[in-house]
Amino acid sequence: MFQGKCAYCESQIRIVDYGDIEHFCPKSKSEYTDLTFEWTNLLLSCTICNNSQHKGTNFPLDANKKPLLIDPTDEKTDIFEHLQLTWDQTVKQAWIDGVTDRGKTVVDIFDLNDKRGTRKELIRDRSKKVKTMLVVFKMATSETIDDSTRKDAINLLKESCNIEEPYLAFALFYILPFLAHHFQDLDAINFLKQVGQRSPSYSQFARINQLPD
Ligand SMILES: [Zn+2]
Repeated sequence: MFQGKCAYCESQIRIVDYGDIEHFCPKSKSEYTDLTFEWTNLLLSCTICNNSQHKGTNFPLDANKKPLLIDPTDEKTDIFEHLQLTWDQTVKQAWIDGVTDRGKTVVDIFDLNDKRGTRKELIRDRSKKVKTMLVVFKMATSETIDDSTRKDAINLLKESCNIEEPYLAFALFYILPFLAHHFQDLDAINFLKQVGQRSPSYSQFARINQLPD
């Protein structure tokens, strides 16, 4: 169900590790022990996101006792309303920024931008993936490239939007709308609409209302 990726940081787990079965609401807190075996409370997480330096038993609540962290499988939460993804061309790094209290809590607890120096590998791997994607994007749109190379470049871009790809969220912002609008790629159009149903803010960003039916 999680395509072998961590629900929180989108890293690929299966290559080096088996990951953890993570309880979104921590089973160690008495108010959530009833959820220990609740299917919807279980997520696949990398061992780093789940360790005590990160989520561990950290589970901050807002003033109304609602979780500040976001359950990535909760379809009622518009994730992209809380998180903003950017590629910094100067330092060539891919950042995730919280734009609401909940988004900021997510970035802080999982140290998604390595502010506390605990996620160097994550930043390196994520940035490398996004950098490669953007170079291929340049090739796909270059006026001087031959048709066969352009076709290869477009296929690579399509691959970067596959659901099992790590850091897919960046491809959703930088690549998928382009494939849908510019190349009118049917798979991309369908996938874009699927993501848009889950996230109104993404739907607006990706101009889904301007796509053909
Ligand atoms: Zn993780």
